[in-house]
Amino acid sequence: MRGMIAVLRVGKSAVSGKAAPDDEQAWFKQLFELSPDPTWIIEDNQFIECNEAAVKTLGYSNRAELLNVHPSKLSPQTQPDGQNSYEKAERIFALVQTNGLHRFEWTHTRADGTDFVAEVTLSTIQLSDRQVIYCIWRDITERKVAEEAQRIAAATFESQQGTFITDANKVILRVNKAFTSVTGYTAQEAVGQTPGLLKSGRQNAAFYAAMWDSISRTGTWLGEIWNRRKNGTVYPEHLSISSVKDAAGILTHYVGTFSDLTSYKAAEEQIDDLAHTDLLTGMSNRRKLIIRLQQAIVAAEDHQHQCALLMLDLDYFKSLNDAIGHAQGDEVLHCVAKRLAAATRDGDTVARLGGDEFVVLLDHLNRDPQVALRQVQALANKMLEALNTPYQLSGSTISCTASIGITFFGAQHEDTLEPLKRAELALYQAKSGGRNMLRFFDPQMQAVVDARVKLAAALQEAIQNQQFTLYYQAQVSDSDGIVGVEALVRWFDPKRGMVSPAEFIPLAEETGLILPIGSWVLETACQQLAAWAAQPAMAHLSIAVNVSARQFRESNFVSQTLATLERTRANPQRLKLELTESVLIADAEDVIVKMNALKAIGIGFAIDDFGTGYSSLSYLKRLPLERLKIDQGFVRNILMDPDDAAISRAVIAMATSMGLGVIAEGVETEAQRDFLASLGCHTYQGYLFSKPLPVAEFEAFATRF
Ligand code: C2E
Ligand code: CA
Ligand code: CA
Repeated sequence: MRGMIAVLRVGKSAVSGKAAPDDEQAWFKQLFELSPDPTWIIEDNQFIECNEAAVKTLGYSNRAELLNVHPSKLSPQTQPDGQNSYEKAERIFALVQTNGLHRFEWTHTRADGTDFVAEVTLSTIQLSDRQVIYCIWRDITERKVAEEAQRIAAATFESQQGTFITDANKVILRVNKAFTSVTGYTAQEAVGQTPGLLKSGRQNAAFYAAMWDSISRTGTWLGEIWNRRKNGTVYPEHLSISSVKDAAGILTHYVGTFSDLTSYKAAEEQIDDLAHTDLLTGMSNRRKLIIRLQQAIVAAEDHQHQCALLMLDLDYFKSLNDAIGHAQGDEVLHCVAKRLAAATRDGDTVARLGGDEFVVLLDHLNRDPQVALRQVQALANKMLEALNTPYQLSGSTISCTASIGITFFGAQHEDTLEPLKRAELALYQAKSGGRNMLRFFDPQMQAVVDARVKLAAALQEAIQNQQFTLYYQAQVSDSDGIVGVEALVRWFDPKRGMVSPAEFIPLAEETGLILPIGSWVLETACQQLAAWAAQPAMAHLSIAVNVSARQFRESNFVSQTLATLERTRANPQRLKLELTESVLIADAEDVIVKMNALKAIGIGFAIDDFGTGYSSLSYLKRLPLERLKIDQGFVRNILMDPDDAAISRAVIAMATSMGLGVIAEGVETEAQRDFLASLGCHTYQGYLFSKPLPVAEFEAFATRF
């Protein structure tokens, strides 16, 4: 059956009527022979004919050899889909018989035993009177490789990494799904844009210039970069950009791949946190404290501010720990940590060094060393108070005190460990000084603190022992002479003598003692008003009383003042209250309500030290004011300093335009008075007329005036 085919006739449909050359058979045979694609003729499931291309493709030496090969040699045992080649072939042949045509892929085996994939097309044809299968096929190995590469490329493109492809002008052509999930931009939104779409602004132009420079020189750039998502959040990513060139070496595309480092960074930070955290309390540990200390030293040097380091521990904690057991001891330390965290501000660093030893680092203290000292002292006292509060443990309540050692740093450069050593030394002093106290490392500071503590105690006693008196300083108008007085408090301490209000009023404000002192002043001034009302020579005088911010802020300030007026039967029209601008800016609505309530019964208001604060004109206009008091700081230099003169002039102009009175304080010379008068200010207070005097002396002065 296998042999040369003498006659080869293709079914009519294939030639459809066109005239063929004379020797039609030879013509078709030639077609068969010369076809570059391998071709078989199959009859009864046997290969009966093949062409040269088939011989060559399969690696045999001639047609006879190929046609003699057993069909099982021409295919591997099984096809890639796992089916037995022989059985599969039989099924396909049967299929072709019914359908007339079938196209499929088939793995062939070459003479040398290697396999390759072919695309095979089978069709039934009529050969003379025989029905045969015409089989044409081609080696598609290359196409398969290309397809596979494409599949791999597609899979790679849709990988976990965000990917974009741009043209040579950096215009985005394609992005993958990961690109969208990381950046939030859909393919539609990204295509046509440049990668600049993702710029976060965290890298400068020089950064991008260096990046593109690297790409053009080396073909790639790799690094970390901050980009911005569509929703505005900025995130870190690891980015790689490569340029793609064509066969001629001309740049055609850029490919960028990136991965979102957000979670990685978070994990990194978490690990870092753990390394810097005290596991018992969750606070910073020693390592973290050292880092913060280093940063604080550098920042303090740069910005010229002070920092403080407070080292504290619980008194007799070791014995306590032994007594209550370690589990409860840990509970105490937990509470300590919580209380310290509550006492400090967010930016402060609270660390546990180990055992019951804690450290608090305060940066950004006030530049004024005196103010900074007071800040730190106040905080340390607050911490002591917090730590001395009994501890409620599961099962028991224990009491315990603490000691604190404090040092300042940042004034000059020093080694990181120095402040720690000093704080520790100060803590040791607090311990040896009797515990339950705070100690400053610097003996001078300690002296200042000690003095203030003593002064506060003395001030407390002064209230009980009634060591205060009021002095009165005349307020004089060009037209009417003495129109009133300012009441100025004086403290006679048996040991210290006369203590200046400039010294004790700030302390009284800090400690809250200003409240009893202030109400005593108001009460006394009102009694004086009532007494003067009975003396014809003094009845017209008003008394100005200074009111501290702390006093005015008290919720019962209005009712207290009304009660005092009622009790003393003083005329509210003669009572003036001097408020500083710091009072006014606190809580505008509250201030306005209180002032209006007091104004309603006739009390007048003056703004003290006017010009030193920042209250706005529009705000001042809403207040029921009577007059402005030019600060003595401006009056002092009014003749020498053009700025002070200009400010005084502005204050006077402002008072006039608002329909308010104006008084200048600290007037010491005639020249000052004359200059003020020339600016339009005609009421004065100052040594030129009188110093603040005890009431009897003032009355004598006023009668003489
Ligand atoms: P202030 O309210 O600005 O009082 C004016 C201060 O200037 C008074 O100082 C007064 O003695 C002083 N003074 C008056 N005329 C002259 C002058 O011609 N030249 C100079 N160099 N000084 C003059 P003082 O009495 O020592 O009071 C200081 C501050 O203490 C007051 O400043 C006020 O802020 C506060 N203060 C005084 N008494 C009270 C009070 O009863 N309650 C409250 N809350 N604060 C008061
Ligand atoms: Ca005053
Ligand atoms: Ca003043």
